[in-house]
Amino acid sequence: MGMDLNLGLSNLGVGSDTYDVIIIGGGPAGASAAIYTARADLKTLVIDKGLTAGALGITEKISNYPGVPGPISGAELVEIMRGQAESFGAEFITDKVVGVDFDSDPKMVMAGTGTFHAHTVILATGSMGRTNSVPGEAEFLGRGVSYCATCDGAFFRDRVVAVIGNNDEALEEALFLTKFARRIHLIVPTPRLKAREPLIREMETAPQIEVRLSTRLKEIFGDGRVEGVRIHPRGGEEEILEVEGAFVYLQGGQPITDYLGAQLETAPDGCLLVDEEMQTSIPGVFAVGDLLCAHIKQAVIAAADGVKAAIAVDKYLNKREKLQIDWG
Ligand SMILES: Cc1cc2nc3c(=O)[nH]c(=O)nc-3n(C[C@H](O)[C@H](O)[C@H](O)COP(=O)(O)OP(=O)(O)OC[C@H]3O[C@@H](n4cnc5c(N)ncnc54)[C@H](O)[C@@H]3O)c2cc1C
Repeated sequence: MGMDLNLGLSNLGVGSDTYDVIIIGGGPAGASAAIYTARADLKTLVIDKGLTAGALGITEKISNYPGVPGPISGAELVEIMRGQAESFGAEFITDKVVGVDFDSDPKMVMAGTGTFHAHTVILATGSMGRTNSVPGEAEFLGRGVSYCATCDGAFFRDRVVAVIGNNDEALEEALFLTKFARRIHLIVPTPRLKAREPLIREMETAPQIEVRLSTRLKEIFGDGRVEGVRIHPRGGEEEILEVEGAFVYLQGGQPITDYLGAQLETAPDGCLLVDEEMQTSIPGVFAVGDLLCAHIKQAVIAAADGVKAAIAVDKYLNKREKLQIDWG
């Protein structure tokens, strides 16, 4: 939400070169695009904020993905796709994209660990965006409510905050906040944590984090700014926690476009517009998968979108007249 985006960063971790394509989101749409761009020898970087932050990543069982009889967990299926893309040379990093600049040449993608550059970008962030489902969430957005610890964590130095959610993203953001906050209440609606094992182990050794399992967030309240949250532990009495920040990572059903600003053309209902090659209003920027409103929400369709965009990226970069597939 950009209380203070500290974005003037240099590349860290991954090489400072310009990529042929950066794919934002590594679900079935993004990972399938990466299989095809890497296979076409395009220098490919996928930035994804967490395996269990996407729709397929949270799916307990999937049995209808062609060629994978299953049942298999959605996270396992995504990992297979990512492994296949990596085997062709795609690089993956776990990070959250917080901004883009498509006017610059090459195009710029800003994430928590740095700024990355590419000639083309595929947007594949899905539709697990927040829907303001908790009283007070919309009212205090930017005044204590945040969806991005990477962006806003520094405002909460020595403060007490709540992180609400149960996925890789929520745990990663809670761990990130240990750099700043004095105490972090992690409010988890379910009886156990559902995230990657290393994250759960790291959490267990973070003394500032107090995990509250089987607990629902009922309200975020305050007077001008967040002053507390009302929570309800299963089978217990409602409680008030005095906090100055509430970082909400509950899943919703909104296309995730917050990191785009207003750089791309949308329909009146806010949905991104793409042509038959999945290209947006800016040449070299493509959008695929559940991020698109008209898209049928199935993993195989997201994967197919990703493939279409990957082939269109190849055509764009090589200035071809027609789409062409590398059958190799
Ligand atoms: C509960 C449930 C059950 C389902 N069951 C089935 C099923 O049985 N069969 C089927 O075919 N489909 C099923 N679906 C639908 C299917 O999961 C989706 O259609 C598909 O996952 C969409 O793929 P996607 O890549 O567009 O988005 P997602 O799978 O949502 O992936 C988006 C990715 O983008 C990343 N991301 C988001 N924002 C950022 C950011 N700012 N920076 C970096 N990364 C970001 C996320 O971490 C995520 O990995 C189910 C969905 C749900 C919710």
